[in-house]
Amino acid sequence: MSTNAALFERAQRVIPGGVNSPVRAFRAVGGTPRFIHRAEGAYLFDAEGRRYIDYIGSWGPMILGHGHPTVLEAVRKAAADGFSFGAPTEREVELAEEILKLVPSMEQVRLVSSGTEAAMSAIRLARGATGRAKLIKFEGCYHGHADALLVKAGSGLATFGNPTSAGVPPEVVQHTLVLEYNNIALLEEAFALHGPDLACVMIEPIAGNMNFVRASVPFMTRLRELCSRHGALLVFDEVMTGFRVGLHGAQGLYAKLIPGFRPDLSVFGKVIGGGMPLAAFGGPRDVMQQLAPTGPVYQAGTLSGNPVATACGLATLKEIQRPGFFEALAKRTRSLTAGLAQAAQQAGLAFSVDSEGGMFGFFFLDPLPQHYQQVMATDQASFNRFFHGMLERGVYLAPALYEAGFVSAAHTAADVEATVNAAHEALR
Ligand SMILES: *Cc1c(COP(=O)(O)O)cnc(C)c1O
Repeated sequence: MSTNAALFERAQRVIPGGVNSPVRAFRAVGGTPRFIHRAEGAYLFDAEGRRYIDYIGSWGPMILGHGHPTVLEAVRKAAADGFSFGAPTEREVELAEEILKLVPSMEQVRLVSSGTEAAMSAIRLARGATGRAKLIKFEGCYHGHADALLVKAGSGLATFGNPTSAGVPPEVVQHTLVLEYNNIALLEEAFALHGPDLACVMIEPIAGNMNFVRASVPFMTRLRELCSRHGALLVFDEVMTGFRVGLHGAQGLYAKLIPGFRPDLSVFGKVIGGGMPLAAFGGPRDVMQQLAPTGPVYQAGTLSGNPVATACGLATLKEIQRPGFFEALAKRTRSLTAGLAQAAQQAGLAFSVDSEGGMFGFFFLDPLPQHYQQVMATDQASFNRFFHGMLERGVYLAPALYEAGFVSAAHTAADVEATVNAAHEALR
């Protein structure tokens, strides 16, 4: 049997950093990444046969837990009929219909293979449809690794962003403006300066890539007003929140809080594929018709709408529509966050938590952060100690303090209790 350490050694010889996505390397928390051998329900099993209660769920997709029988059966059947055809299938149409039924802001949707691809395509579409170049994003929000989105704030509002990655020439991000999340004054200033040139504003409505930070209702209300007034498209990146915080995504929640609210374009991924490579973007028919082959905005994909992935996504979306699904998931998630908060309180630590549906965040500071700089003020050392304390006790949390956590329908009350007990010990 190979150990995690031996596999990591071997991996680093042939794969940069030993991983195919950087956060998996445990660089933020230190230590050896666990090589996962298999998963079942709420559990992961590593190469050494150790079991972990999984609060990452493949970074969100596994909302039903691992190996859900109905989903597994749908995937097996689809695979037997063929892996990929490069031609249209009925199942793609069925999935598109299902998505549109659940997300009323969209009249048409296009399927792609990753969240990165969906976000990148949505921006191209927004630019093509408006004939404008500039876009706004917010510090701490992640929209995949397309060049134009790997940006941090410039030195002032009149200046556009700087690349956060080598290999992205400054000219490629010269149209991207990066603002502070939840800051209405900056948003107003940015629109006053650049309104007529803005193609879109892209936002994670509940930001899960800086742990868990909600856009405030006044901020979202003002953002919607400004986009409408200036003709910029409001793009909701729901790759993480879609079908995760509720059946109708974060936009369903904001529509309840802000009368008539809807985004212009929406981007989905993660849960939509149930663990298979599948993502989507969509919006009003007139905008979506700008895409090739009906319109001038080019977008394509060899594996887009893949028959096995769509079977997995469809089966997953059907399961989460069962009556009471999200109520039960949200309740379980809240029992976890309440337990963690109590453990921190008993240990006398500053701590705050938030959750929505099956997505949660916790911070070793109080009150809850409202934007990236506040998230980054969290004590890194306390988080890392807690992470490793939990991992040693068989609880697998996200290996970085700026990541959200996920509970699945497979997590039982006993799993949560075991997790909270581990937290009491780890924080002692
Ligand atoms: C994960 C994520 C992405 C990128 O999706 P990939 O499938 O990893 O390319 C984009 N936006 C958000 C909000 C995400 O959480």
